[in-house]
Amino acid sequence: MEINVSENIDGVLKNIETAAGKAGRNKDEITLIAVTKTKPFEMLMEAYDHGIRDFGENKVQDLVDKYEKAPADSRFHMIGHLQTNKVKYLIGKAFLIHGVDSYKLAEVINKESVKHGVVTDILVEVNVAGEESKFGLKPSDTLKTVKEIAALPNVRVKGLMTIAPYVDDPEENRQYFVDLRNLLIDINRENIDNVHMDILSMGMTNDYMVACEEGATYVRVGTGIFGERDYSNKENVQ
Ligand SMILES: *Cc1c(COP(=O)(O)O)cnc(C)c1O
Repeated sequence: MEINVSENIDGVLKNIETAAGKAGRNKDEITLIAVTKTKPFEMLMEAYDHGIRDFGENKVQDLVDKYEKAPADSRFHMIGHLQTNKVKYLIGKAFLIHGVDSYKLAEVINKESVKHGVVTDILVEVNVAGEESKFGLKPSDTLKTVKEIAALPNVRVKGLMTIAPYVDDPEENRQYFVDLRNLLIDINRENIDNVHMDILSMGMTNDYMVACEEGATYVRVGTGIFGERDYSNKENVQ
Protein backbone atom coordinates (compact mmCIF):
# COMPACT_ATOMS: atom_id res chain seq x y z
CA MET A 1 0.00 0.00 0.00
CA GLU A 2 1.25 3.45 -0.90
CA ILE A 3 2.05 5.54 2.17
CA ASN A 4 1.11 9.19 1.96
CA VAL A 5 3.39 10.79 4.52
CA SER A 6 1.97 14.31 4.15
CA GLU A 7 -1.59 13.15 4.51
CA ASN A 8 -0.68 11.05 7.54
CA ILE A 9 1.08 13.99 9.20
CA ASP A 10 -1.95 16.19 8.63
CA GLY A 11 -4.14 13.52 10.22
CA VAL A 12 -1.89 13.18 13.27
CA LEU A 13 -1.65 16.96 13.74
CA LYS A 14 -5.41 17.25 13.54
CA ASN A 15 -5.81 14.52 16.15
CA ILE A 16 -3.30 16.28 18.40
CA GLU A 17 -5.28 19.50 18.08
CA THR A 18 -8.54 17.69 18.90
CA ALA A 19 -7.06 15.91 21.91
CA ALA A 20 -5.40 19.07 23.20
CA GLY A 21 -8.67 20.98 22.79
CA LYS A 22 -10.53 18.33 24.74
CA ALA A 23 -8.17 18.89 27.66
CA GLY A 24 -8.25 22.67 27.38
CA ARG A 25 -4.70 22.75 26.10
CA ASN A 26 -3.16 24.62 23.18
CA LYS A 27 -1.92 22.38 20.36
CA ASP A 28 1.29 24.41 20.27
CA GLU A 29 2.28 22.91 23.64
CA ILE A 30 2.74 19.59 21.86
CA THR A 31 5.51 18.77 19.42
CA LEU A 32 5.18 15.85 17.06
CA ILE A 33 8.32 13.74 16.75
CA ALA A 34 8.22 11.76 13.51
CA VAL A 35 9.83 8.43 14.34
CA THR A 36 11.85 7.57 11.25
CA LYS A 37 13.62 4.49 12.66
CA THR A 38 14.20 1.78 10.01
CA LYS A 39 12.78 4.12 7.35
CA PRO A 40 14.79 5.49 4.43
CA PHE A 41 16.10 9.05 4.42
CA GLU A 42 13.75 9.92 1.54
CA MET A 43 10.78 9.40 3.82
CA LEU A 44 12.33 11.64 6.44
CA MET A 45 12.66 14.32 3.78
CA GLU A 46 9.02 13.92 2.80
CA ALA A 47 8.13 14.70 6.40
CA TYR A 48 10.64 17.55 6.50
CA ASP A 49 9.15 19.05 3.36
CA HIS A 50 5.78 18.86 5.04
CA GLY A 51 7.00 20.95 7.95
CA ILE A 52 8.29 18.36 10.42
CA ARG A 53 11.55 19.28 12.15
CA ASP A 54 11.69 16.71 14.97
CA PHE A 55 12.78 13.18 14.16
CA GLY A 56 13.15 10.14 16.39
CA GLU A 57 15.67 7.34 15.97
CA ASN A 58 16.43 4.46 18.31
CA LYS A 59 19.88 3.52 17.06
CA VAL A 60 22.94 5.70 17.38
CA GLN A 61 24.35 4.86 13.96
CA ASP A 62 21.06 5.58 12.17
CA LEU A 63 20.61 8.85 14.03
CA VAL A 64 24.11 9.98 13.13
CA ASP A 65 23.71 8.95 9.46
CA LYS A 66 20.45 10.84 9.09
CA TYR A 67 21.74 13.81 11.09
CA GLU A 68 24.67 14.19 8.67
CA LYS A 69 22.35 14.28 5.66
CA ALA A 70 19.40 16.25 7.01
CA PRO A 71 18.92 20.04 6.74
CA ALA A 72 20.58 21.93 9.56
CA ASP A 73 17.38 22.94 11.31
CA SER A 74 16.34 19.31 11.88
CA ARG A 75 16.30 18.08 15.48
CA PHE A 76 17.18 14.48 16.20
CA HIS A 77 15.78 12.75 19.25
CA MET A 78 17.45 9.63 20.58
CA ILE A 79 14.47 7.59 21.74
CA GLY A 80 16.02 4.14 22.08
CA HIS A 81 17.96 2.44 24.81
CA LEU A 82 21.44 3.92 24.87
CA GLN A 83 24.61 2.00 25.66
CA THR A 84 27.32 3.92 27.46
CA ASN A 85 29.97 3.01 24.87
CA LYS A 86 27.95 4.70 22.11
CA VAL A 87 27.29 7.99 23.90
CA LYS A 88 30.33 9.68 22.39
CA TYR A 89 28.92 9.46 18.86
CA LEU A 90 25.72 11.25 19.83
CA ILE A 91 26.99 14.31 21.63
CA GLY A 92 26.29 17.49 19.72
CA LYS A 93 24.07 15.57 17.31
CA ALA A 94 21.16 14.43 19.41
CA PHE A 95 18.93 17.39 20.25
CA LEU A 96 17.47 15.47 23.19
CA ILE A 97 18.24 12.04 24.64
CA HIS A 98 14.96 10.56 25.84
CA GLY A 99 15.88 7.25 27.41
CA VAL A 100 18.24 8.00 30.29
CA ASP A 101 17.48 5.44 32.97
CA SER A 102 20.52 5.42 35.20
CA TYR A 103 22.93 7.79 36.88
CA LYS A 104 25.75 5.83 35.28
CA LEU A 105 24.51 6.64 31.78
CA ALA A 106 24.03 10.31 32.69
CA GLU A 107 27.57 10.38 34.05
CA VAL A 108 28.95 9.18 30.72
CA ILE A 109 26.81 11.72 28.84
CA ASN A 110 28.22 14.38 31.16
CA LYS A 111 31.80 13.28 30.62
CA GLU A 112 31.47 13.30 26.83
CA SER A 113 29.64 16.63 26.92
CA VAL A 114 32.47 18.17 28.92
CA LYS A 115 34.92 16.96 26.28
CA HIS A 116 32.85 18.61 23.55
CA GLY A 117 32.22 21.75 25.58
CA VAL A 118 28.44 21.38 25.37
CA VAL A 119 25.51 20.85 27.70
CA THR A 120 23.31 17.91 26.70
CA ASP A 121 19.58 17.87 27.33
CA ILE A 122 18.13 14.62 28.54
CA LEU A 123 14.88 13.06 29.70
CA VAL A 124 14.73 10.47 32.44
CA GLU A 125 12.90 7.34 31.38
CA VAL A 126 10.38 5.93 33.82
CA ASN A 127 8.78 2.53 33.60
CA VAL A 128 5.45 3.68 34.97
CA ALA A 129 3.62 0.52 34.04
CA GLY A 130 6.24 -1.64 35.77
CA GLU A 131 6.64 -3.92 32.76
CA GLU A 132 9.46 -6.41 33.22
CA SER A 133 10.53 -6.19 29.60
CA LYS A 134 10.96 -2.43 29.58
CA PHE A 135 13.84 -0.17 30.43
CA GLY A 136 13.28 2.79 32.70
CA LEU A 137 13.43 3.68 36.36
CA LYS A 138 10.86 2.67 38.90
CA PRO A 139 8.70 5.69 39.74
CA SER A 140 9.86 5.42 43.35
CA ASP A 141 13.54 5.66 42.34
CA THR A 142 13.11 8.59 39.97
CA LEU A 143 13.42 11.52 42.39
CA LYS A 144 16.66 10.19 43.82
CA THR A 145 18.17 9.66 40.37
CA VAL A 146 17.08 13.09 39.13
CA LYS A 147 18.75 14.63 42.18
CA GLU A 148 21.98 12.79 41.45
CA ILE A 149 21.95 13.72 37.78
CA ALA A 150 21.22 17.36 38.65
CA ALA A 151 24.70 17.62 40.14
CA LEU A 152 26.32 16.88 36.76
CA PRO A 153 27.27 20.24 35.21
CA ASN A 154 27.01 19.34 31.52
CA VAL A 155 23.74 17.42 31.59
CA ARG A 156 20.38 19.13 31.91
CA VAL A 157 17.31 17.13 32.93
CA LYS A 158 14.42 18.58 30.93
CA GLY A 159 11.68 16.14 31.83
CA LEU A 160 10.42 12.58 31.85
CA MET A 161 9.73 9.98 29.21
CA THR A 162 7.81 6.73 29.23
CA ILE A 163 6.97 3.93 26.86
CA ALA A 164 3.50 2.68 27.73
CA PRO A 165 2.46 -0.94 27.15
CA TYR A 166 1.21 -2.07 23.80
CA VAL A 167 -2.54 -2.33 24.27
CA ASP A 168 -5.59 -2.59 22.03
CA ASP A 169 -7.51 0.09 23.87
CA PRO A 170 -5.44 3.24 24.51
CA GLU A 171 -7.68 4.07 27.48
CA GLU A 172 -5.81 1.33 29.33
CA ASN A 173 -2.73 3.56 29.25
CA ARG A 174 -4.38 6.74 30.48
CA GLN A 175 -3.44 6.13 34.11
CA TYR A 176 0.22 5.67 33.19
CA PHE A 177 0.27 9.06 31.49
CA VAL A 178 -1.43 10.64 34.50
CA ASP A 179 1.16 8.96 36.74
CA LEU A 180 4.06 10.34 34.70
CA ARG A 181 2.60 13.85 34.77
CA ASN A 182 2.10 13.67 38.54
CA LEU A 183 5.63 12.40 39.03
CA LEU A 184 6.94 15.39 37.10
CA ILE A 185 4.87 17.76 39.23
CA ASP A 186 6.07 16.09 42.45
CA ILE A 187 9.72 16.29 41.43
CA ASN A 188 9.41 19.94 40.39
CA ARG A 189 7.97 20.69 43.84
CA GLU A 190 11.24 19.54 45.37
CA ASN A 191 12.95 22.60 43.83
CA ILE A 192 16.13 20.73 43.04
CA ASP A 193 18.94 23.10 42.02
CA ASN A 194 19.37 23.24 38.25
CA VAL A 195 16.24 21.21 37.59
CA HIS A 196 13.14 22.56 36.03
CA MET A 197 11.38 19.87 34.11
CA ASP A 198 8.67 20.81 31.66
CA ILE A 199 8.83 18.02 29.09
CA LEU A 200 6.65 14.92 29.09
CA SER A 201 7.55 12.59 26.24
CA MET A 202 4.71 10.11 26.09
CA GLY A 203 2.35 8.63 23.53
CA MET A 204 2.98 6.64 20.35
CA THR A 205 0.84 5.79 17.32
CA ASN A 206 -1.60 3.77 19.36
CA ASP A 207 -2.15 6.09 22.28
CA TYR A 208 -0.85 9.57 21.51
CA MET A 209 -4.29 11.16 21.67
CA VAL A 210 -4.81 9.97 25.25
CA ALA A 211 -1.26 11.12 26.06
CA CYS A 212 -2.07 14.60 24.67
CA GLU A 213 -5.15 14.76 26.85
CA GLU A 214 -2.97 13.95 29.87
CA GLY A 215 -0.22 16.47 29.32
CA ALA A 216 2.25 15.15 26.74
CA THR A 217 4.54 17.81 25.31
CA TYR A 218 6.25 15.43 22.89
CA VAL A 219 4.49 12.56 21.16
CA ARG A 220 6.55 10.02 19.23
CA VAL A 221 4.72 8.70 16.18
CA GLY A 222 6.22 6.28 13.68
CA THR A 223 3.74 3.82 12.19
CA GLY A 224 0.98 6.43 12.06
CA ILE A 225 3.10 8.53 9.69
CA PHE A 226 5.37 6.15 7.81
CA GLY A 227 3.45 2.87 7.93
CA GLU A 228 4.45 -0.44 9.46
CA ARG A 229 8.14 -1.09 9.97
CA ASP A 230 9.75 -4.00 8.21
CA TYR A 231 11.59 -6.10 10.76
CA SER A 232 12.26 -9.00 8.39
CA ASN A 233 15.74 -7.56 8.18
CA LYS A 234 17.15 -8.68 11.54
CA GLU A 235 19.38 -5.61 11.71
CA ASN A 236 16.29 -3.61 12.51
CA VAL A 237 15.34 -5.51 15.64
CA GLN A 238 16.19 -3.46 18.69
C1 LIG B 1 9.38 2.95 17.75
C2 LIG B 1 9.12 3.89 18.84
C3 LIG B 1 8.07 4.83 18.76
C4 LIG B 1 7.10 4.89 17.60
O1 LIG B 1 6.22 3.81 17.65
P1 LIG B 1 4.92 3.74 16.73
O2 LIG B 1 4.02 2.80 17.45
O3 LIG B 1 5.37 3.23 15.41
O4 LIG B 1 4.36 5.10 16.64
C5 LIG B 1 7.92 5.71 19.81
N1 LIG B 1 8.74 5.69 20.88
C6 LIG B 1 9.75 4.83 20.99
C7 LIG B 1 10.61 4.87 22.20
C8 LIG B 1 9.97 3.89 19.99
O5 LIG B 1 10.98 3.02 20.13
